[in-house]
Amino acid sequence: MTTLTTHRLDADAAGIAEAGRLLRAGRLVAFPTETVYGLGADATDGRAVAAIYAAKGRPSFNPLIAHVATVGEALALGAFDAAATALARAFWPGPLTLVVPVAPGGAVSDLARAGLDTVGLRVPSHPVAQALLAAAGRPVAAPSANRSGHVSPTTAAHVLADLDGRIDAVMDGGPTDVGVESTIVACLGGDPVLLRPGGVPRDAIEAVIGRPLAAATGEATIAPGMLASHYAPDAAMRLDATAPGPGEALLAFGPVVPPGAAEVLNLSPTGDLAEAAANLFGHLRRLDASGARRIAVMPIPSEGLGEAIRDRLARAAAPRDA
Ligand code: AMP
Ligand code: MG
Repeated sequence: MTTLTTHRLDADAAGIAEAGRLLRAGRLVAFPTETVYGLGADATDGRAVAAIYAAKGRPSFNPLIAHVATVGEALALGAFDAAATALARAFWPGPLTLVVPVAPGGAVSDLARAGLDTVGLRVPSHPVAQALLAAAGRPVAAPSANRSGHVSPTTAAHVLADLDGRIDAVMDGGPTDVGVESTIVACLGGDPVLLRPGGVPRDAIEAVIGRPLAAATGEATIAPGMLASHYAPDAAMRLDATAPGPGEALLAFGPVVPPGAAEVLNLSPTGDLAEAAANLFGHLRRLDASGARRIAVMPIPSEGLGEAIRDRLARAAAPRDA
């Protein structure tokens, strides 16, 4: 990937305004939350979200948490049941992430949701995060601001040690104070499920919902399919296909597309892996909805973002119980 100059921004009015401008332009900005430093990008822009994966060197797409400034903005992005609404009112702003069904037409991109029908939402309380999210004026996807496999950063210096030259800016808001990640609770209609322990303790959550949190023991605990760990199409998939077979839809990549498919969508006609990542889940869904029994996928190079794209395609192609 290209080397960027990573700007260190002070957490003052000018720094916040610049960070908001960068995020709205699809750039990457690391910023403090009350848990750890997050690596932020416009969650509504698949290309910007793809850049997070490229900067972190993450070999797989998993759903990212979309951060917003206010409870009202979060409520518009998802479908909140009674438990989710009570938890939002009790703990936001704060270190709680709620996974809820995505709202129809919700703005969070499908790459940020890893193609799932659910969305992870959080309203952080850190004043710098609050100001930045207000300046960005849109949901900001933000996993921890470290290289894949490294520990989560709690200072701007930690962020730079991992990501200097790979991101556009880091807002320096001093050391973060919780240091552990947000608690993640899924509210998908059945009993709320604790997906990850974190900054808000279990008993505080149980006191609000008035019952014990279910353990995340797999998909069976809630509505089937609602908490699938990855997106899987109904159609069978065939990877590294050089030409479509009879009746196959084709997920193409690059300028040279073999003829003969009933339905063709190209992840990136120019062979750009960031564009391909941004289009991945949307194109898969559209081909799946076209009624084809099988989707043939052209070869994707395995360098850079190609590794994460290939990983997700392989999971989508795997037998359903894998
Ligand atoms: P983090 O590593 O702090 O960015 O948290 C990301 C984690 O949030 C993911 O690995 C998931 O466990 C969880 N998460 C976010 N969005 C969703 C979602 N839509 N469905 C299920 N889990 C989610
Ligand atoms: Mg992390």
